[in-house]
Amino acid sequence: MYIYNTLSRKKEEFKPIEEGKVGLYTCGPTVYHYAHIGNIRNYIGHDILEKTLEYLGYKVTRVMNITDVGHLTSDSDSGEDKMEVAKKREGKSAYEIAEFYTKAFFDDFKKVNCDYPDIVSPATQNIDMYIKIIEKLLEDGYAYKSGGNVYFDISKLKDYYVLTNHKEDDMVVGAREGVEEDDRKRNQADFALWFTVSKFENHEMLWDSPFGRGYPGWHIECSGISIKYLGEYLDIHGGGVDNIFPHHTNEIAQSESYLGHKWCNYWFHNEHLLDSSGKMSKSHGEILTVSELERKGYNPLSFRFMCLNSHYRKQLVFSFEALDQAEQTYNKLKSRISNIEPTGDIEEDKYNSYNQRFIEEISDDLNISNTLTIIYDLLKDNEVNGNTKLKLIGDFDKVLSLDLINHEEEDSELVEYIQSKIEERNNAKANKDYALADQIRNELLEKGIELMDTREGTKYKINK
Ligand code: AMP
Ligand code: ZN
Repeated sequence: MYIYNTLSRKKEEFKPIEEGKVGLYTCGPTVYHYAHIGNIRNYIGHDILEKTLEYLGYKVTRVMNITDVGHLTSDSDSGEDKMEVAKKREGKSAYEIAEFYTKAFFDDFKKVNCDYPDIVSPATQNIDMYIKIIEKLLEDGYAYKSGGNVYFDISKLKDYYVLTNHKEDDMVVGAREGVEEDDRKRNQADFALWFTVSKFENHEMLWDSPFGRGYPGWHIECSGISIKYLGEYLDIHGGGVDNIFPHHTNEIAQSESYLGHKWCNYWFHNEHLLDSSGKMSKSHGEILTVSELERKGYNPLSFRFMCLNSHYRKQLVFSFEALDQAEQTYNKLKSRISNIEPTGDIEEDKYNSYNQRFIEEISDDLNISNTLTIIYDLLKDNEVNGNTKLKLIGDFDKVLSLDLINHEEEDSELVEYIQSKIEERNNAKANKDYALADQIRNELLEKGIELMDTREGTKYKINK
C-alpha cells in the first residue's frame, strides 16, 4: 500500500513496524461544542484508512483521545481553555460539558458508519503519563520552568520544523495572528507542557503535580496517550491539516525528546471541509452537524458518500446543492444494487479481477472515488452474474461502509403503508386539518416511523 506521508511530503510504500500489524493514532475531538460536519469529514478519512488497512489484511489497533482539557482557543499557549469558554456559555461544569459533547460526537460518528476506535481515552484520565514525560524532559534539559509554567525548549532540537517543510518564518508562533508574546518563554516558539499560571481564574480542571497544581497543554496529551497505549514506536498518526502545526510538530518534538528515538513513521493528514465562507470551524458561525443534516431529512450516509467522492487530500466545499446531488446519486446507486438478481455461483476469476482493481485503488493513497467507478463498471457488466456482483459490492462496502447491500429485505407492504399514510397526511394538511395531520404523524411515530418534512417532500425513517 502507498500512502502520502506529510513527513516526507511524498507518497510512500507503507511498511509496518511489526509485520501484519498497525498502530494508528487519531487526534480526537475537543469536546467543548458539537462536532461539525468538517470534523466528521476528518474522521471519515481516518475510518477509510483503518478499513483499507484491514481490507489489506492488517490487524489495526486504533487509539483516539478526547480533548477535554488544555486546548486553548489559539491552538497554542494563548487564549482561554476551550472547556472554560463552554462553561461560561452553558453554565455547566467542564465535566458535564465534556460528557455531553462526547456523547453527541459519537452519535454523529456512528451515523456516518465510522467504527468506534479500539481505545478511546479522555485527556483528563492520563495525567500521570503527562507528568512522567514532563519530568523526564525537565531532567534531560528539553524543558524548563518559567513563571510557574513548564515549557518545551525548541532550541534544543536540530529539526523542530521537520513536519512543516521548514517554513520557519511562517510558523514562528509570535508571528501568528491572535497569538500573544509570552515573556515567560526563552524563545517565542517554545510551547507549554504544563500550566500552573493561567490568566483566567477559577480554572476548574486542575491536578497536583511536581511542577505545581495545574493542567496539561493540549499537545502533551496526544503524545502521552499514544505512547501509553501504542508504545514507543508508532506506525501512523493522523489528524486534519490544521494539526500539522503547531499540534503535531510539538508532539514530535516532545515525544522524540522523551523517547530518544524516532517515534512515528507516517503522518496522515486530511484536508478540510469548507463552506462558502471558508474553513468550517466550531468557533465561528453556526455549527452544522450530521444530526442537523438528518433533522433536515438527509440520510447521514449521503454525507459520507459526498466525502468519499473527493480525495481526502483535497479540500471539499460543502453546499446543500452538492449534498442534494450526492443524495440523489447515492439513492440511485443503492436502488441499482437492490435490483441485482441474486443468481449464479460466485465466478472466482471475475471476482478476483474486480477485487484486484479495488485493491489497487485503495492501495494508491486511498483512491476511494475511483472505487465507486469500479462499482458502476460492475453494475453495467453483463458478463458477471448477480451473486458475484453482490459479493463484490458487499466486500467493497467493508471499506466504504455505505450500507450498499440491504441485508434486511425492505418490507414492501410496510413501505406501501407508510406512503399511503404520508399521502393521507398531505391531504389533511391541504384541507387545513392539522389535528388529523398530527394524529397521523403520531400514529406512525408510535410504530417507530419518523416523518421529516423536507424541501423535496416528506421523507421517513424507520427507527429500529
Ligand atoms: P477539534 O474538535 O477542533 O479538536 O477538531 C477535531 C478534528 O477535526 C481535528 O483533527 C481537526 O484537524 C479537524 N478539523 C477541524 N476543522 C475541520 C474542517 N473544517 N474540515 C476537516 N477537518 C477539520
Ligand atoms: Zn492530537
